[in-house]
Amino acid sequence: MARAPRPARAAAEADPSGQAPHGAADGAVTAATARPGPRPARPAAKVRPVPDEPAAAQAAPAAGASAPGPAGEARPPGPRKRKRSRSTAAAERKPHASATESAAKPRPRAAEQAASHPHRRWPKPEPDDVSALIPSKQGMILMRGYSDKGRRWHQEIDLDLAVTLVREKAAVVVNRRTIRRLFSNKDFRRYILTRDRYTCHFCGLYGDTIDHLLPRAKGGHTTPVNCVCACNLCNQAKADQYVDEFMGN
Ligand SMILES: [Zn+2]
Repeated sequence: MARAPRPARAAAEADPSGQAPHGAADGAVTAATARPGPRPARPAAKVRPVPDEPAAAQAAPAAGASAPGPAGEARPPGPRKRKRSRSTAAAERKPHASATESAAKPRPRAAEQAASHPHRRWPKPEPDDVSALIPSKQGMILMRGYSDKGRRWHQEIDLDLAVTLVREKAAVVVNRRTIRRLFSNKDFRRYILTRDRYTCHFCGLYGDTIDHLLPRAKGGHTTPVNCVCACNLCNQAKADQYVDEFMGN
C-alpha cells in the first residue's frame, strides 16, 4: 500500500542480516518483551486513514451550499437550516484541525503528501532516529509488527520502551508516533542463534537457547543487544542473575 519504498529501505538498513521479518511470528515475543496485550484495537486508526476524507471534508461546504435547494423543499426550513449550518461548520473545522494536528494522524495521506508536498511538515525519520518519536498525549507510541504466522499486530507502548527497543535494534522508527518491530518470535530466535553461531555466550559450548543478559526480571528486554545464545545449563544456572554475578560464581 502506502508503505512503498521507505519501509523496505528501513528494513534493509536496520537488519543487514536480511532476515527482516516480513511475515513471521506472533505477538508472543513482543508481548513478552513489552507487555501482554496486543489488542486488536486499532479500528479508530484504521478508520481515519481513509484517504479521501480531507477531500470530502473540503468538498462538504460546497455540497452543503448546493444541498439546501432539494433538501430544503422536503423539510421545514427551521430545523433544517440549523442542521446544515452545523454540519458545514464541522466540515470547515475539519480541514483546519487536520492542518494543525496532522501530527496526530499522518498515516493516511503519507504517500499522497509525499507526492504533492515535497516539504512535508513531518519528514520521514531515519529508522534509528529515536529523537523523531513524539508520543501521543497519553505518552504512548504505537508499535506494530508481524506475528510468526504473518499476521499484523500492534500495541501501544510508552515512549521509554519504544526508545529502548529502537536503540537495542529490535525495532525501527516508522514515523513520529510509530515504531515497527523487526522480528517475529521465531525470527528473533533464529537471528540470535545464527548471529552467535549456536555458541554459548558463557561457556563457549553448543547452545540453542536465548538468554537475556540483563534478565527480564530486572527490566531487560528481548532485543538483539540484550540477548545472546546460551547453552541450556548456563541459561538455567544464570537464571535471573546479572552477568557479573553469574560469571563471578
Ligand atoms: Zn554454556
